[in-house]
Amino acid sequence: MLKPIPYARQSISKADIDAVVQVLNSDFLTQGPVVPAFEEAVANYCHAEHAVATSNATAALHLACLALGLGKGDVLWTSPITFVASANCALYCGASVDFVDIDPQTYNLCPIALEAKLLAAEKTKQLPKIVVAVHLCGQSCDMKAIHALSVKYGFKLIEDASHAIGAKYQGEPVGGGRYSDITVFSFHPVKIITSCEGGMALTNNAQLAKTMTRLRSHGISNEPMDMLQQPANEIWNYQQHDLGFNYRMSEIHGALGLSQFQRIDDFINTRHNIAKKYDASFKNLPIVSPWQHPDCHSSYHLYPIRVSKSATGMTQKQVYEALHLANIKVNLHYIPVYLQPFYQNKGFKRGYCKNAESYFQESISLPMYAGMSEEQQEMVCDHIHLVFEKLTVNA
Ligand SMILES: *Cc1c(COP(=O)(O)O)cnc(C)c1O
Repeated sequence: MLKPIPYARQSISKADIDAVVQVLNSDFLTQGPVVPAFEEAVANYCHAEHAVATSNATAALHLACLALGLGKGDVLWTSPITFVASANCALYCGASVDFVDIDPQTYNLCPIALEAKLLAAEKTKQLPKIVVAVHLCGQSCDMKAIHALSVKYGFKLIEDASHAIGAKYQGEPVGGGRYSDITVFSFHPVKIITSCEGGMALTNNAQLAKTMTRLRSHGISNEPMDMLQQPANEIWNYQQHDLGFNYRMSEIHGALGLSQFQRIDDFINTRHNIAKKYDASFKNLPIVSPWQHPDCHSSYHLYPIRVSKSATGMTQKQVYEALHLANIKVNLHYIPVYLQPFYQNKGFKRGYCKNAESYFQESISLPMYAGMSEEQQEMVCDHIHLVFEKLTVNA
């Protein structure tokens, strides 16, 4: 039996290992110079003014919500087709969550559905304070349209770009913040680059950056200019101003992230080549490959195909299981967040977002990662053909 082909996997180089070892031999394992260097590199690449590295993207989303003032009584809206963290961040702040259906072609939060929901919410005075736009698979949302709605209805915008470091929108790097307040990246090992665990929040607003930086480290500042008045005969070299967290990224994680980041363009190119190969191979099969919007240059974090029973004669589950039997560990991104038991207990019902649910019932994420060998790519293509040719015969 051949080694299983995962849906995603990190690519670790000798340079990555050396960078980590170098930190281990250095003076600082945390709060040293490497994390700021990583932040600066990402900010420069994305044309953003500030970057705040965190222990993971979930923490960055939490900090972003807090910095934008989300609290009790507020509502955050996001897409149901995302990882649960895009929604959970609202609940951490004592706010509530609601969901906007996806566009059936891009699978991203649909600006038309958003506008319809905003119109209704305006009447009942339940407008969202924040909308989290998730760039699913690494393809940017229609940020221009969503931003226009944020101006009209007065909500803040977070881009959950956990999938999308290295992607472009309208020719500009995702993370540049032209159409949002804060953009969040994830460096989990399945994502485009990894720091083991890690995340980053980018913004062009100095005040938001400062707040996120302070909350990342216990709400403490040690900048002399931030010190509130204290007795002159006492030593006050740090001061806690609000209830923060320990959401810092360590130097070891930062070193791996910074080293990986040197290869970001290679990683994206390789992913595009794999996508091209898949697109060409599946052209004549009765499955739907990911559609690409002309405004977007995706980072291709994921490559979901859609399998409809009416077109293929086989259910998504049958295809999923057939591929797993062949040791091709395809996955599913995502179960609509509001169908999770935790959210069902909050009263969300099946049928709430129709496009999201039909996507959930048809999508299968194929293996896609920079370290995939040609042989592995061919294996995936061959097996997909085998599965669907068998289906066609059986149908
Ligand atoms: C991975 C992911 C997150 C969470 O990232 P972590 O770094 O694991 O906390 C959040 N949102 C989306 C869309 C993700 O894919």
